[in-house]
Amino acid sequence: MSQPKAPSILELYPEETRAAADLLKQAVPHMVRHDIPPNPVHYALWYTYSKGTEPELNRRLDKAVKDFASFPPETAAKLFRDYIINGELEEARAGQQQVIELVDDIQGDVSRSVSGSQHYQASLALGLAALQEPIADDLPNVLTELQQSTQLMHDQQEQFLYRLRAAQGEIQSLRTQLERAQAAATLDSLTHVFNRHAFTRLLEQALSNDPQGLALVMLDIDHFKQFNDQYGHPLGDRVLQHVGQLMRDLLPARGIAARYGGEEFCVILRDCFDIASASAFAEQLRLKLQALRIKVRSTDKVLDSITASFGLALAEPGDNFESLVTRADDALYQAKRNGRNQIHPSSAEAALSA
Ligand code: GH3
Ligand code: MG
Ligand code: MG
Repeated sequence: MSQPKAPSILELYPEETRAAADLLKQAVPHMVRHDIPPNPVHYALWYTYSKGTEPELNRRLDKAVKDFASFPPETAAKLFRDYIINGELEEARAGQQQVIELVDDIQGDVSRSVSGSQHYQASLALGLAALQEPIADDLPNVLTELQQSTQLMHDQQEQFLYRLRAAQGEIQSLRTQLERAQAAATLDSLTHVFNRHAFTRLLEQALSNDPQGLALVMLDIDHFKQFNDQYGHPLGDRVLQHVGQLMRDLLPARGIAARYGGEEFCVILRDCFDIASASAFAEQLRLKLQALRIKVRSTDKVLDSITASFGLALAEPGDNFESLVTRADDALYQAKRNGRNQIHPSSAEAALSA
């Protein structure tokens, strides 16, 4: 009798690497949307979901994400068994165990029957009875089938791992693209601090969470137009990069640094309950900036100090983005009027500390 042929790998997984990667690309957004942790079982489920070859699996996955806030691991394991490996793993294990037990029994009986002749007949009868069980009758076939299904499982797993590895590159590039897009959407490309859009969102968020202990530092480089006119825009850009770097270096934990526009920057400070703390931070920044020595690369000439003026405001209950920024901006204007290269608190805080 010819052995039933195990399905070849190609029949099981007809997609090529490219198509597999495309399917995975469709699967990833589903997983992200439903906060499904990326592990091989989940990848396999959502991969098959995207393939659409198991409508019942799709229905059950849809239901699972609807019913549960976080995708339960036991549901994932069950669906994986039912639809991805079709229970073969379990069946093969159970089958294997059955055969091992049977062979053990027969061996035991035969060896016992050799040592105790009085049991010989009984053991032989038992052994024969066991061998007449359908599974024993069919033992060579069962073993061959078992070997085939083990091979099939092995091939499936190999192919799955291969597919996963092939897709790994694709996932990595997706992740990089996503990170780049996210960075481009939130960071200022010149200074690598947050851009104005992100700053607006972050400050609004911080204010709506809890304005207590929130301070805003606004700074504007002094006479920067003149600097650009004298040394050129590219050197001006380098100054802005240095300012960004200084802000990032000095930023306390949970602080947020952003470029508000042109040569104006903002820092959101948290856990900052008085104007003196905000002022201490701004003073550090002011001194470091003033101490910065910028060299013109072509001539080695060291430029005069760059300075900036600072405005400070503490958030109050009821503050919104506009009211807080306006207070810090007004204070900054005062610092400019008073002669630049200095720090000025908003009038509310100035009155309080007077
Ligand atoms: P003040 O002390 O009153 O702030 O004087 P200022 O010259 O700094 O102020 P003003 O607002 O008149 O000029 C800001 C200048 O900042 C104008 C513009 O040339 C320069 N600037 C804005 N964005 C950039 C930029 O991305 N790169 C460079 N190099 N310069 C910029
Ligand atoms: Mg300005
Ligand atoms: Mg300026």
